[in-house]
Amino acid sequence: MSAVIQIKDLSFSYGANGKPVIQIPHLTINKNETVFLFGPSGSGKTTLLEILAGVITGQGDVEMLGQKTQNMSLSQRDQFRSEHIGYIFQQFNLIPYLTLRENILLPFTFSGKKMDQALYDKVVTELGLSEHIEKLATQLSVGQQQRVAAARALVAKPEIILADEPTSALDYDHRENFLKILFSLVKAQGSTLIFVSHDRSIQNLFERHLNLADVNAVKV
Ligand code: ADP
Ligand code: MG
Repeated sequence: MSAVIQIKDLSFSYGANGKPVIQIPHLTINKNETVFLFGPSGSGKTTLLEILAGVITGQGDVEMLGQKTQNMSLSQRDQFRSEHIGYIFQQFNLIPYLTLRENILLPFTFSGKKMDQALYDKVVTELGLSEHIEKLATQLSVGQQQRVAAARALVAKPEIILADEPTSALDYDHRENFLKILFSLVKAQGSTLIFVSHDRSIQNLFERHLNLADVNAVKV
């Protein structure tokens, strides 16, 4: 088993004098693991994913695929994310003035990766986005926007997928379709998955159940 994510003595606060939100002495996630990350609202799940994605940085060691993100500049972290990480943001982070197609293809704008047309077609179809593909992201319902965010995170075959409550706005059928394609891609590509959710009904799909409270010394 090889470590894909390795955290040592990580701490993070919002603002210079803020109280720490995250204090994690040690956490390792191995290649191919599927992790169901849970914990109460406000316990730092989104903050942790943003640190792993290099959107923000804390103090201490965060090693992603053998590279320490704290040693990278902001643009190096952006580059690293576009090449290696598929991130389904809790608030989606779609670009409002771009179409669905353009939003989904964004990872290819920032990385040298080549698009796999068959995979793109499959993801767009199975997530039920085909008929809306030329609409602007702002012309969609919340559930549709969440499916676009999911599609964008999957099309570039990332080694690491970080999904922040990615089914919160999906109805039953769309949730099932999303989970099916997510797990089939994770398996086919050998990706590592961290999936934040409050939905205990799906936790058995995941190999590892990680309660943030068990690794984070900051208690809420
Ligand atoms: P979760 O995703 O588990 O609900 P978050 O990581 O969003 O938790 O938040 C953890 C803590 O950090 C909360 O107390 C929240 O209020 C605080 N927090 C989150 N984002 C910010 C921010 N941008 N500025 C200041 N505090 C924040
Ligand atoms: Mg959150």
